Amino acid sequence: MKRNYIAGEWVEGGSAAENINPSDTRDVIGLFARADAAQAEAAIAAAQAAQPQWAGATPQRRCEALDAVGQEILARKDELGDLLAREEGKTLAEAVGEVVRAAQIFNFFAAETLRAGGELVPSIRPGMSVEITREPVGVVSIITPWNFPIAIPAWKIAPALAYGNAVVFKPADSVPASAWALAEILSRAGLPAGTFNLVMGRGRDIGDTLLNDARVAAVTFTGSEATGRKVAQACIGRRGPMAKFQLEMGGKNPLVVLDDADLDVAVACAINGAFFSTGQRCTASSRLIVTQGIHDRFVATLVEKLKSLAVGDARDPKTAIGPVVDATQLRQDTDYIAIGRQEGARLAFGGEAMAEVAGRPGFYLQPALFVDTHNGMRINREEIFGPVASVIRARDADEALVLANDTDYGLSAGVCTTSLKLAAHFKRHLQAGMVMVNAPTAGVDPHVPFGGRKASSYGPREQGRYAAEFYTTVKTTYVNP
Ligand code: NAD
Repeated sequence: MKRNYIAGEWVEGGSAAENINPSDTRDVIGLFARADAAQAEAAIAAAQAAQPQWAGATPQRRCEALDAVGQEILARKDELGDLLAREEGKTLAEAVGEVVRAAQIFNFFAAETLRAGGELVPSIRPGMSVEITREPVGVVSIITPWNFPIAIPAWKIAPALAYGNAVVFKPADSVPASAWALAEILSRAGLPAGTFNLVMGRGRDIGDTLLNDARVAAVTFTGSEATGRKVAQACIGRRGPMAKFQLEMGGKNPLVVLDDADLDVAVACAINGAFFSTGQRCTASSRLIVTQGIHDRFVATLVEKLKSLAVGDARDPKTAIGPVVDATQLRQDTDYIAIGRQEGARLAFGGEAMAEVAGRPGFYLQPALFVDTHNGMRINREEIFGPVASVIRARDADEALVLANDTDYGLSAGVCTTSLKLAAHFKRHLQAGMVMVNAPTAGVDPHVPFGGRKASSYGPREQGRYAAEFYTTVKTTYVNP
């Protein structure tokens, strides 16, 4: 059994759960401990005790620890990628790419430790000076979803440690293997015992402890909007000091295709953005907003392309689209496909669940493309989080922009056009945290800010140097020499 890591020790959980391969449900990846509330509390206590020592470690020491983690992840990318594809269901190429991303993030923040600095500002009072510095926030609870089992933990754990915080990390219950592998690497990185803690388990069992304990100074959460709201309420409503919090949640990301778009580029962006990683990305292009001059050609070419994409075992090199992560998510996807049909949308391709592929029982779903949809339909307003996309016809670029912004969400948005003028107009007016021009809505760089607006995000941006905003607190010191 794979155990939790608390105060520098590997400990049994209150209970344990099997981790199942969604590409072949007969394949049990392993048995993983589930922490109970008392263990979550022990992890918080350990983090609180260790944090001052880690905050006092030299930047060089922090740099070396994070650098060692990044290097080991990179050296083991094929093995860790295979494990990730096996437990989450994205294709092997995507999984290895995600592992490399995790390594890049550790390398980036290793270097950031050496760049920490402040500002020295003249005071308006004679003889006085003002120093502006950043300090760690303290103990950080890190709560992550299942769809990026190593990259999202990396983009939270690396900056938390880089800036001198201690961590209690709770991965999603359905993908403990990648999280455990990352924790095992961190356990050998030379951190003081208690600086990094892993508590695997369900949100309903240990979530309250990770949010409500006043020793937790900050909570960083990525997951659904519904859980995000609970996190926010707990962080504000708890006894003692409120927790600082940061939420990354859902999306209903538009990809706008304008009449003058390069058709091949637009179709490639739609295939990648809507269907790769089985559509299970917060940045997935679930709404394809297409102006009428290109609409029919776009749909015909997209359908032809979809026919060529093999659905199958995530680790089969021929597979383009792996399975859905689990039975619950598959039911959500097929329920929404039924809702779309009831709403009058027409399925131009796919949408059939398959109980097995090549003799392997798994959670397989043919990618689904709806046409004849309008933006008021539930399938265009609510996050489905599967390989399901809708085409919405727009009269012209102006209407396309209005439709793109007519959503509660605002994570990522894309536009395909060959016009510099239209690209500039959309860049300026799309209401999203990330805008892509002739590029898929999903797929980002690790060294620049990531995050959204409206119901997609709350709080400071993640990644790149902007991460310092969340993982540090600013001190202003006045010195009268
Ligand atoms: P989820 O909200 O069900 O779970 C996320 C995490 O919260 C898990 O670790 C879960 O165990 C934990 N949790 C559940 N209940 C809790 C509680 N009461 N207290 C504390 N923690 C609790 O989300 P999911 O199904 O794992 O992930 C899919 C969602 O994540 C989608 O909505 C997707 O858009 C979103 N997502 C967003 C981003 C982003 O950066 N915006 C990135 C990836 C995924």
